[in-house]
Amino acid sequence: MRILIVEDEPRLLRNLARALREEEYAVDTAERGDEGIFKAESCNYDAIVLDVMLPGMDGWQFLTRLRKTKQTPVLMLTARDAPPDRVRGLDTGADDYLVKPFDLAELLARIRSIIRRASGNANPCLELGDVMIDPRARSVTFAGDAVTLTAREYSILEYLALQRGHVVTRTELYEHLFDENEDTLSNLLDVHIFSIRKKIRPDIIKTRRGDGYYIEE
Ligand code: CA
Repeated sequence: MRILIVEDEPRLLRNLARALREEEYAVDTAERGDEGIFKAESCNYDAIVLDVMLPGMDGWQFLTRLRKTKQTPVLMLTARDAPPDRVRGLDTGADDYLVKPFDLAELLARIRSIIRRASGNANPCLELGDVMIDPRARSVTFAGDAVTLTAREYSILEYLALQRGHVVTRTELYEHLFDENEDTLSNLLDVHIFSIRKKIRPDIIKTRRGDGYYIEE
């Protein structure tokens, strides 16, 4: 999962980015609203964490413009707990909001929740027959036994599971799983997929030649 954080307080931005990377998200950042909207419009993020008071373009303008082209889930960070502010955020198309200062664990839970809702999965656990994925614990079981996946393998499996029934192209996987600072080696994806199949079962992820990968509904 790839997340964009738009926040102009350098320390908060650094801390948020670090916390999200520790949770194995790919993270891009912007310190200005105009820089943020450029990134948000040119990349399909899985979620955006958006501060309200920003230089260049404020959070409201950002959101109004984003919603013209994209349904990316947005969690707004507001410094003011005034009810009109919250109402405005939800009316403008925010999916959730948090009032600063907030608890990091709560932010992480809300991000998981808006990503899950955006993919149409109400259940926190993703069930694929005898394979169970728990995004809260980032854990996987197969026929009741724990499967040990690397962070990257887990991210690939979770992403394909959220999109199950649809073919996901290699380009889309790279876009959602690697951030702007990472080198993307094209053969790496195959290595991860091979390893996931070996650890779970060979047909857990199917290949559509020339198109990409998918998990059956
Ligand atoms: Ca701010």
